[in-house]
Order: sequence, then C-alpha cells, then structure tokens
Amino acid sequence: MFAPVTASVSRRRLRACECCDLVVALPALRPGERARCPRCDHVFAQRHAHAVQRTLALATACLMMLVLTLPFEFIAFATHGISASLSLVDAPTALTAESYPSLAVLLILTIVLLPALYLIGVIYTHAAIGLKLPLPGMRGIARTLSHLRPWMMADVFLVGVMVSLVKIAGMADISFGPSFWAFCAFALLMTKTLASIDVDRMWFALAGEPSAPTGTLPGMGAALQGLGSCHSCGLINACTAHEAHVACRRCGDPVHQRKTASLQRTWAWLVAALILYVPANVFPIMSTVSLGESDPQTIAGGIVLLWSHGDWPIALVIFVASILVPASKMIAIAWLCISAQRPDVQHARARVALYRITEYIGRWSMVDVFVVALLAALIQLGALMSVHPGPAALSFAVVVVLTMLSAQSFDPRLVWDTPEEAQLASKPLFQAPAQTSASHESPAMPGPVSSGSTASSPTVSPSQDDL
Ligand SMILES: [Zn+2]
Ligand SMILES: [Zn+2]
Repeated sequence: MFAPVTASVSRRRLRACECCDLVVALPALRPGERARCPRCDHVFAQRHAHAVQRTLALATACLMMLVLTLPFEFIAFATHGISASLSLVDAPTALTAESYPSLAVLLILTIVLLPALYLIGVIYTHAAIGLKLPLPGMRGIARTLSHLRPWMMADVFLVGVMVSLVKIAGMADISFGPSFWAFCAFALLMTKTLASIDVDRMWFALAGEPSAPTGTLPGMGAALQGLGSCHSCGLINACTAHEAHVACRRCGDPVHQRKTASLQRTWAWLVAALILYVPANVFPIMSTVSLGESDPQTIAGGIVLLWSHGDWPIALVIFVASILVPASKMIAIAWLCISAQRPDVQHARARVALYRITEYIGRWSMVDVFVVALLAALIQLGALMSVHPGPAALSFAVVVVLTMLSAQSFDPRLVWDTPEEAQLASKPLFQAPAQTSASHESPAMPGPVSSGSTASSPTVSPSQDDL
C-alpha cells in the first residue's frame, strides 16, 4: 500500500525505493500492515505490535541460547565400541589441528561471533529506544546492523548439521547433547528476531524523521530529482551523481544515487568466484578414511554416492545447495549485469524479482561447507574412521562469499534506468540544499520527543501514530 500523490505533497515520510528508485509517500501503518513499492513490490516497512519490546525479548532470549550452545556437548557418536563427542568450542580447535584454520575462522565468524555482535547491537539499540536513554554510539551500531544482517547463517548451519547426521547415521550411533537443542532454539529465535526488527520505527525512534529535501515529488525517480536513498535507514537525501561523499542526514551512512562502480565491482567479484568455482568442483571437498582406506570425494562425487546409497533426499539438498544454487546464481548475476547495460522497463520488475531471489538464496550454498567442517571436527578416530577437509572446501566457501559480495554490489535500480534517465541523473533538475555531514553521534537522544537534531533541513517530529 502507498499514499496517493496529491497536489500539495508533504515532505514527511517520503521514501525512494532501493530497488527501482521510485519516490513514494508512506502512509501511517497499523500493526500487521506493510508498505510495498507500487512499481517493484519492494517492502519499505512492516509494522509489528509492540515491536521494540518484542525484538528486545527475542534478541535477549536468542543471545542466551547462543551462550548456552558453547559449554555443553553438541553431538556424540559411537561406532565399533569407540565413542567421540564434540562441543561447538571444540570444533574450531579440531579444524585448526586438521590444518584448516580458515574453516575454523569461518565457523566461528558465521556461527558465533557475528550473530553475537548482531544480537548485542539489537539489544543495545532497542534498550536505548525502550528506555528512551541516549546511549553512546546508537546510530553507528544501528548502521552496522544493516551491514551484518546478510551474514546471519544459524539456519543454514542447522541444515548442515541435519545433512551431516544423515550422512553418518548408517555408520554410527548418534546422540544429541544440550548444546544441540540450545542451537535449535537459537536458530529459531534468530529467524524470529530478524523478522521482528522494524527498521523504519527503529530509525524514527533513534533519530527522528528529517523531511525530504525541498521539491521532492512522489511518483518520480529519485535520481531524476537529484536525490539518493540511504541504504541503512531509508531516508531521502539530496545527492547528485557527481558527489562522492554525501553522508545521510539521519544515520551518517554514505548515500549514492547508484552504488559506486556497481557493475565493475559486481563483475570483479563474479569473475573471482568463477575462477575459484573450478577448483571447488575439481578437487575433493573431503576425504573419508575408513578401516585404513582413504576415499576422497568431490562435490559431485559425494552427491552420486549419496544417491547410490538411497539417500536421495540428502543428495538432492546437496545438489541444490552446492551445484544448482551457486551455478544459477552466477548465471543470474551475469545476466543482470548484461541487462543493466541495456535497461528495459517492461521487464525490469521480473529482473528485480530475480535479483531478490539471487540475493536470498546465496547463503544457503554454505550448507556443504558446514557439513564438511562438522564431520571433520567430529569424526577423528584415526585409521578406523576419520574425515578430513579437502582443498575444495575452502575454495567453495570463498565462492559462496564472493557470490554474496557480487550480489550485494549489484544495484537493482540500474535495470530501471532508461538512457534518458541515466543522463538526467547526472543533471539535477533543481539545486539541492546543502548537506551537513551527520557522521558524528549526537550526544542527545534524538527522536520524536527530542528537539535535538543534526539534520541540516527541518526535522519534523511526527507522533508515533504517523509511522
Ligand atoms: Zn520499487
Ligand atoms: Zn541513513
């Protein structure tokens, strides 16, 4: 839903779509409602009842579960009278002993460190909002949250654990420790926390609602009006194509009409991913030693083996996550880059939908990397039975990261740009008001109840009902 364009346009609550650049006026939203872009379906905001309290409670419970996953036994297995167990703290140590410290670092970062930092940031900002306390560094932390969000992979790791279990279920007796159940709760709560965060309300409470620059018109592209949308907080800022360093008036993040050198950076990450995709598929991703015999497996070889043993559902999961998703993602990004050089508004909506799917599915390719890391950390019984990571494990992990960076570098607004718009984007139709950098934290708690503001244009203080 969106507000209709009227003759006298309010500059409050105007947003520029980050997928198609259309400027729209957001209406007041009630709990359960969401505001979508009328042109490309991008969700501007989704309102939840008691959003701050709900997010605070979920994030706190989630962080507690994450802490509980660390000290206890995660998983144990027994075979031929020998048993072994693993805690999440042991896993990186075991991988380092296997001469794969890079996999250990990847595991710590994606499963423990980044989620912990993210949750602490969510708790800090929402506690400040809930208590109306001007805590130091709130805006910087809130900005960081939007950059950390794509790297939350608890659910992907949980799928990796399930796949690992099926792989070894026929060879050993498996039992779960308290840490495993805590991790299941952590993954579920993390999904709920991510869904509960109302970015629009969070930024309103942290830094108020500065008006859009004078002359901003809904129904037109932002670049055509010499404007740019902030990727972190969504505020419209005056920004010409030539300005290299414009800081958002509300959050201080850099604002660009289009992501800087988007196509070049997207191609660069993509080519690097393509190069590493070759060793990721040619070399073994892991080697299984059973009764003294070593059996190296490539990604494709592992899928064929699972299929021949009748484990076709798991073979299908690995095929989709490790072959279909990365390959189709790289093809989709390449096609988007090519089509962005020949924009076609008629098909732009479908292209943006493809971009969203590409961005969403990318991290799921990490499943096979987590499977290898977990099996290599867990199964270390010497010549009787052991699993070792292969060189392809690291190559494949880097491919996944590079394709994610490639998708993040792509600017979907490029597929909507006609040549005329692209030309006009570099020539603003009106003189934009001067910008003031807002990169320093305001000592006072800004927002609807505070008159303090770092914005150069007038800051309106709408009531909570206006959101
Ligand atoms: Zn849009
Ligand atoms: Zn901003």
